[in-house]
Amino acid sequence: MGSHYYQRKIHICPFRLFVLAWMAILTATSTFAAERAAAILVYHRFGASVADSMTTRNTVFEAQIARLRQDGYTMVSLTHAVAGLDGKLELAPKTVAITVDDGHRSVYTDLLPIIRREHLPVALFIYPSAISNASYAMTWQQLAEIVGTGLVEVHSHTYWHPNFRDEKRRLAPDRYREFVRDQMEKPRRVLKAKLGVDAPFLAWPFGIHDTELEAAAAAAGYRAAFMLGEREATSADSLLALPRYLIVDSYGVAGLTRLLHDDQHRAKVIQP
Ligand SMILES: [Zn+2]
Repeated sequence: MGSHYYQRKIHICPFRLFVLAWMAILTATSTFAAERAAAILVYHRFGASVADSMTTRNTVFEAQIARLRQDGYTMVSLTHAVAGLDGKLELAPKTVAITVDDGHRSVYTDLLPIIRREHLPVALFIYPSAISNASYAMTWQQLAEIVGTGLVEVHSHTYWHPNFRDEKRRLAPDRYREFVRDQMEKPRRVLKAKLGVDAPFLAWPFGIHDTELEAAAAAAGYRAAFMLGEREATSADSLLALPRYLIVDSYGVAGLTRLLHDDQHRAKVIQP
């Protein structure tokens, strides 16, 4: 009786080990799939000093980039990050993509030298009505020079950065639909004509979006659209509502790394 029990025990153990090993492999595989994520940062303006709430000092930005690289983050283009989130390629465990909204002239005067020196991939979201028009914005010539570096993608931030919530209240339903279509389609046409770029991505002005706007974006040919949100974008997110961390000067280096580290940690705890 005793020896029979002993025999059963040694026969079952290897099988159990095999099952456990197999379960571990399955878990590891699904965890890898679930953890497909990228931290997408959004900046607005740059400068030697903090001129307004949306300006990040050049020195702070440079220190943030240096620290992220030191901490093992991989800086990728937004196209690369989206392809990864879409399952078309693998993302490094700590992936960061940098975006800059609004086409402020400090992108040319302050950010461009840093992009060149650091070989930094950056995506700009532009609303073409301001370019070569508003005093705070870049010119088409400056944008062309930036695109010429081969490091910068230019995408759409609609045509004139409307507040879609206000426009929906203001306009009759038919007029609103027409307005939305125009704001989606025109920037792609203009960016193609002026810079020769396809602009497959959209940043929602003020982060405002809903299912109707998302449908209009898809109909206009956008493959991904970006909002704000204090968390990483993951493969579980809709490609038309991907969150980005809004970065301001006061985060500094410590604030940014804490933000990204805490989020990575939270993601691991929440995901089974
Ligand atoms: Zn904006």
